[in-house]
Amino acid sequence: MLIVKKFGGTSVGNKERIFNVARRCAEEYRKGNDVIVVLSAMGKSTDDLIALAQTINPNPPKRELDMLLTTGEQVSTALMAMAFDTMDVPAVSLNAFQVAMHTTRVHGNARLKRIDTDRIMHELEHRRIVIVTGFQGVNKYDNYTTLGRGGSDTTAVALAAALHADACEIYTDVDGIYTADPRYVPKARKLDEITYDEMLDLATLGSGVLHNRSVEMAKKYGVQLVVRSSLNDHEGTIVKEETNVERMLISGVALDRNTARISVIGLKDQPGMAFKLFNMLARENINVDVILQSIGRENTKDISFTVSRDEADAAVKILESNLSRIGGKSISCNREVAKVSIVGAGMMSNPGVAAKMFEALYNQNININMISTSEIRVTVLIHERDAERAANAVHDAFGLEE
Ligand code: ASP
Ligand code: MG
Repeated sequence: MLIVKKFGGTSVGNKERIFNVARRCAEEYRKGNDVIVVLSAMGKSTDDLIALAQTINPNPPKRELDMLLTTGEQVSTALMAMAFDTMDVPAVSLNAFQVAMHTTRVHGNARLKRIDTDRIMHELEHRRIVIVTGFQGVNKYDNYTTLGRGGSDTTAVALAAALHADACEIYTDVDGIYTADPRYVPKARKLDEITYDEMLDLATLGSGVLHNRSVEMAKKYGVQLVVRSSLNDHEGTIVKEETNVERMLISGVALDRNTARISVIGLKDQPGMAFKLFNMLARENINVDVILQSIGRENTKDISFTVSRDEADAAVKILESNLSRIGGKSISCNREVAKVSIVGAGMMSNPGVAAKMFEALYNQNININMISTSEIRVTVLIHERDAERAANAVHDAFGLEE
């Protein structure tokens, strides 16, 4: 078997943890398997490197920031190879240049395009464990790129796809994917299985366990993932195309505080206004999420939408400087909001799921500002102070607890 194992920052955060990972991988290797280990940078070292960069230049050139950040994964992979050496297990660390992991040009958020497999195959044939730096790639100008925060998951899935691995295991500091974040929903339960689509919604909605691009890629190439803890032997959660357990109505509740609501009041009620407004934001690379347009009155209408909180200032600035062009009267921005979502493939064939969620919120006297839905998701925007109460109430209403 060829197995790709990815370990996150906390799983390699110190000497003991590094040896813990090395032992787990050596066990797999000694069974006769080929083992590829993908690592993140140790602990919070990527954050530390970003902070360090900012002491020199608050707005560092993106190429140089990537040059700096890629050192984090180089440290963890080299140390891991040294740990294997003490155990007399043959191993070699490879960075993005040595593998060759080819990406698009863009710094800070590059996409993997192609992976050369020759070097890795050669090392595996010589019965070495291959330790690969996560999160980094090389662009066509031979510059380092990075794949976006949390991107090591995507490195692992891409390698599993390129090498047709038999298993791709994502090790983290929690036991798997939960029905909600246990930090604020104490009754949250670990899921045995979840579909790619559900996971994509949960990843995008900020559950933070998997990089959403890694899930997209796993779905595209049919790579089955296992998410599990590096600190115990519990079974973890399998992420795959279809789950065969009897379908629950919903699989999880997600809470996302990184959101702000912007309202543009008094737009001209005529064709092209929504296009102009959202096109302006798109050109500045600002992602818009939930959108609500009011019914027109006296030839004007209002459009409200959400953006991530860190992009709210930029969005308001662009809109304000173009307000007269789109004929709007005023703009307001509310940062004290949060999104609560339910996700589940089971809701496709069951009417009344949204109503059940709204009832749970009504029983808590929680007011809904905006609503958006997809086939497998219902999202509401509410006041931030109600967020945790809402998540727990909805979690209870759907009987997700243990
Ligand atoms: N070290 C990178 C980060 O902190 C990549 C990763 O951990 O997946 O974002
Ligand atoms: Mg991660």
